[in-house]
Amino acid sequence: MKPLRKIIWLCVMGLFFAQMPLALAQESDGGDAPVFIRDAEIENYLHELAAPIYRAAGIDPKSITIVIVQSNTVNAFVAEGMNEFFYTGLLQLAANPEQLAGVIAHETGHIADGHLIRGKEEMKNASAEAILGMILAAAAGAASGSGSLAAGGVAGSSQIAERSYLGFSRSQEASADAAGMKFLDRAGISTRGMLNFLKKLQGQEMLPMSQQDEYVQTHPLTQDRVDAVQQHLDDSPPALRNAKLPKKFYVMHARMEAKLLGYLQPEIALERYGPNDPGIPARYARAIALYRTGKPAEAIEIMDGLIKQEPDDPFFYEMKAQIQFDNGAIAQAIGNYKTANDLLPDSSLLRQEYGHALLEDKDPATARARIDLAIKQLLESNRLEGRVPETWRFLAEAWGRKADLVGDPHYTAMATYALAEELAAEGKDPQAAQMAQRAMKGLARGSPYWLRAQDIVMSVGGSGSGGKKHGS
Ligand SMILES: [Zn+2]
Repeated sequence: MKPLRKIIWLCVMGLFFAQMPLALAQESDGGDAPVFIRDAEIENYLHELAAPIYRAAGIDPKSITIVIVQSNTVNAFVAEGMNEFFYTGLLQLAANPEQLAGVIAHETGHIADGHLIRGKEEMKNASAEAILGMILAAAAGAASGSGSLAAGGVAGSSQIAERSYLGFSRSQEASADAAGMKFLDRAGISTRGMLNFLKKLQGQEMLPMSQQDEYVQTHPLTQDRVDAVQQHLDDSPPALRNAKLPKKFYVMHARMEAKLLGYLQPEIALERYGPNDPGIPARYARAIALYRTGKPAEAIEIMDGLIKQEPDDPFFYEMKAQIQFDNGAIAQAIGNYKTANDLLPDSSLLRQEYGHALLEDKDPATARARIDLAIKQLLESNRLEGRVPETWRFLAEAWGRKADLVGDPHYTAMATYALAEELAAEGKDPQAAQMAQRAMKGLARGSPYWLRAQDIVMSVGGSGSGGKKHGS
């Protein structure tokens, strides 16, 4: 698991919105500012859990990007570009896979009903990270009455305007519930989880006003919605009503809980998961919490035990590699990232981490082979998931180092091209076009990368005026 850049915090209204019942200690380094987190294991779980629900709605699961936002706020929403945002507060509040499936089904209901949060044209090609930033900026603009205001500095009553910009009406909520229940039925998943999650949120309304989220105060979760889901559950055939998801989802859910707590609230994790608990989630949570609190040797000892018990789990190798990488044991980290990728070859994030670790190995004896292998991993990561700014940044570094090693300015131009792609993925089209123009000068006219650089230049009309999309 790794944090990406911080984004500015604004309260975004989604479908389920409430504070955590207990104020969890803010262990993250971000204060109130949420950060995007990338985690191959949790993303993998969410994709697997959601796939049958998406398919029930006639949506290709591959067309949806799942994005995790680190925030204690309970929220989830779908935005343009088929990006589905999950806040860690929501993931931690969902007690089991059925409840999470209920949330996903409701979201999918919004997609099917066409309730996507829409932004500017250029968002279509930007990364999910850039999209959320732009949504927040647009919301801030709507709240202040100024379309051009940058995100930030919005407070008080304007938050309500911002929420209504992003929010759904009661009838839209009820309609998304109804569609979601239909998809759950088709996927053979009981609506009991959806009902229980709604009831959990309803409990928020019983809290003193000071502990409630503003959204709960201004837009109470209606009893009608809860009643409608209860009625649907009561009318379901017993086999469906009492259906349980396969055991593997419970395993994945328990590991997600352990990982999030160990990572985000390590002190609480060490209390909740005692050293005598022999369960895998408990040991996993402890290992992560120990790593996060500066005890890498103890963490690695536990990870070794987990790997011994489940030698085919790619994420255990990944976690061990991350601990080693962060503590300067680059060569060992490379070995474990390689094993993780051998076990799960189609994860863009595992490829990217492997490529990044290879870049950090500065041993001159093996430098050239390492750089070539790093480039290979990063290009594969790119193929699996395009428009990830970080991957392009690592590629720029790799091609830049390659240029130094072999003394070929062609690679310098490729590095410049990669920086143009990074800027494009960040939604910074004018700067991307300038960088691409520079890259084109050093690339062979008509070569594949020259054409892609030209594509970036063309996408903004050459003069950086913005507006047209960057197709590729
Ligand atoms: Zn909703």
